[in-house]
Amino acid sequence: MQGNRTGTSFADPTYEGTCPSGPFLGHLPMTSPKRACVITYGCQMNEYESAVIERMLVERGFSLDANPEEADLILLNTCTVRARPEHKVFSQLGAFRRLKQRRPEVRLIVCGCVAQQWGAGLLSRAPHVDAVIGSRDLRALQRFLDGELGDTQVVAGCLESDPFVDTPPLVRQSQVTAFVTIVEGCSYFCRYCIVPYVRGKATSRPLGGVLREVQFLAEQGVREVTLLGQSVNSYGRDLRGGPRFLDVLQAVHQVPGIERIRFTSAHPRDFTEQLLEALPRLPKVCEHFHLPLQSGDDAVLKAMGRGYTADQYLDLVGRLRRAAPEVAITTDVMVGFPGESEQAYGNTLSLMAQVRFDQAFMFKYSDRPGTRAATMESKVPAPEKQRRLEQLVAQQNRIAAEINAALVGREMEVLVEGRDRTGNLLSGRTRTNKIFHLEGQATPGDLVQARAERTYLWGFRGPIAARP
Ligand code: SAM
Ligand code: SF4
Repeated sequence: MQGNRTGTSFADPTYEGTCPSGPFLGHLPMTSPKRACVITYGCQMNEYESAVIERMLVERGFSLDANPEEADLILLNTCTVRARPEHKVFSQLGAFRRLKQRRPEVRLIVCGCVAQQWGAGLLSRAPHVDAVIGSRDLRALQRFLDGELGDTQVVAGCLESDPFVDTPPLVRQSQVTAFVTIVEGCSYFCRYCIVPYVRGKATSRPLGGVLREVQFLAEQGVREVTLLGQSVNSYGRDLRGGPRFLDVLQAVHQVPGIERIRFTSAHPRDFTEQLLEALPRLPKVCEHFHLPLQSGDDAVLKAMGRGYTADQYLDLVGRLRRAAPEVAITTDVMVGFPGESEQAYGNTLSLMAQVRFDQAFMFKYSDRPGTRAATMESKVPAPEKQRRLEQLVAQQNRIAAEINAALVGREMEVLVEGRDRTGNLLSGRTRTNKIFHLEGQATPGDLVQARAERTYLWGFRGPIAARP
């Protein structure tokens, strides 16, 4: 679909090994329909990438199977941003060792950030893996699937290659929301973060490619797009004289069929006054902003290299709330960054109480290899990190429940997405990105007005009050 290739598609692998039993796809049973299972770890950007991989597979005649036990090809799209998701990948690989003993013909590919970080080392640790493909190497994956890479087993290491392929994400039946990555990688190098090392520097996707993909998604029935990037609002900094983030928002806003636009993550440093002033002219942009805070303490923020102070963050929140009083603000926070004192942690606790976030993703700091923070002294002991995290989560849960409870009786616009987990009720999301379980009849893609009768930590339940 898109014609946005600019650089080399495949270059400079760190290592090229051989598959002992011959070219990769030669092992797949070609007589029966081939089944592939894509397993995703990590953030929305990985979910987007997996949807692109799924389309690549479908275009090559694979059917998709959610059960790895049934699949001929298993693809693990991995995350290494914290120690925990990385451990999960290795424990999943352990389980697949047994599966491969039972069914040696199954092919196992690891891609994404763990593949990038470990490269050939992954094969030493998990020799039953058939191929390792780094995070900016989706084109290499295409070539693997097309049998063009022969015996090559590892393609990882080149963080300069063009990360954007011409394949749009797979859209499932009745799917009405979709992610679109517009910036790959990150140039901020926060001192705790491995992303720039495994995803490369921030690379903005050409606007033409973004627009073609959004138009395609709209034609497939998608009504809401979420534009993605590690610092999505820094879009365009690497495109000399090219479009900037506001230009992307304005262009996507004009795509017929798209009713709602979201973007994440917005780096507080890049939330410009110009962007804030433009929001009232962009009614499709939803009143929900994800602004990672990380810490409420100035010394910790400085040590992290975040580039703002607690007061500057509060000032941004204030300006957003003055511009859109109904706005929902969500965040990422971590506890136990090296050197975080009890008082510094207390500053995070009180800043979060002051802001009153609608939702927060809260983490315990973990060392990531190659980052500056990993070599810092004054590490916070694990039990202390756990205590801080539990206290922060308890406070945040109370605040989120209070915010939602205050909205009982209110009518809200909900985009109907499908059914809830029980299958009994329709489910969708408000403009503020909260889940709403709906009583009544509607079709995925409908924008309905619903009345919040019951509230929960995660959102609301109530009847459909009106349909457009
Ligand atoms: N780009 C976003 C930003 O500006 O904050 C963050 C993206 S990062 C993939 C997702 C979240 O993981 C971060 O916001 C941070 O809270 C958390 N995280 C990153 N590195 C971490 C580490 N070493 N230990 C614990 N949490 C970490
Ligand atoms: Fe990591 Fe910082 Fe970039 Fe976010 S902005 S991805 S935390 S380096």
